[in-house]
Amino acid sequence: MKGLLRVVAEALPGSYHSYGIRHLNANLLKTFKSQKLCKLFSRAAYALRESDHKEAMELIKAKNEKVEKWISEIPKENWANVHFKGARWNVLTTNAAECFNNVLKDARELPIAALVDHTRWKVQDFFQFRRKAGATWKTHLTHRAEKWLDRSCSFGSKFLPRTCSWNEYEVLSSTHTNSVDLEKKTCMCGLFQTMGLPCGHAIAAMGLNKLDRYKYCQD
Ligand SMILES: [Zn+2]
Repeated sequence: MKGLLRVVAEALPGSYHSYGIRHLNANLLKTFKSQKLCKLFSRAAYALRESDHKEAMELIKAKNEKVEKWISEIPKENWANVHFKGARWNVLTTNAAECFNNVLKDARELPIAALVDHTRWKVQDFFQFRRKAGATWKTHLTHRAEKWLDRSCSFGSKFLPRTCSWNEYEVLSSTHTNSVDLEKKTCMCGLFQTMGLPCGHAIAAMGLNKLDRYKYCQD
C-alpha cells in the first residue's frame, strides 16, 4: 500500500488518493467481527456534514474504543467524504474498477505486451461506445446528472430562500436552515460541493434571481 501511495503521487501529481470503503469495511469485519460497527464506519464515511461524521465516530468509540483507534489510524482525507480534498461525487467504492477488472479477466494469462494492447483496445471500445451515445444527447449534462438536477428542483420548490449578501443565501425548510454560497458552490447540507451539482437549497436560492442552474454545475 505504501509503495502505491508513493507511485500514485509521482505518476499523477496533484491527484487525491481515495480508499474504497468496501475494502476498508472488509478489513474491519475480519479484525473485529462486527457488522454493526461496519455500518457505523460507512455512516462516518458517507456523512456530508462534519457534525454527522463526528457523531458516527463517537458512536463507534462508545461501542468499541479499539475500533475507533483502528479507524483513526487511517488518514481521514482518504476515506471520509467530509475530509476528502478533491471531488469524489459521493463514490466511496471501487465498483467501477472491479467491473473493468472483470472485463480483463480472460486477458490476465497473456504476455505483458499483449495484455497492455488488449487493455488499450477495451478502453478504446468503451470510449467509442460512450462517444456515439453522447453524440445523440440533446441535454446539457448526462441523463443521470439531469435527473439529479430535476430532483433538486422539485425539492427546491419546497424551500424558502432569503438573500444574505451578493452570493450568499439562507434557505429555510420546515426542519432546517441551510446556508448556500453560489460563488463557492457550497451548501451547508454538503451535497452541492460533494456532487458538483446544485442541491435543492442552491436551486431555491438561484430561483430568486432566475439564475441558470447549469452555470453552477462542476466542469
Ligand atoms: Zn443544500
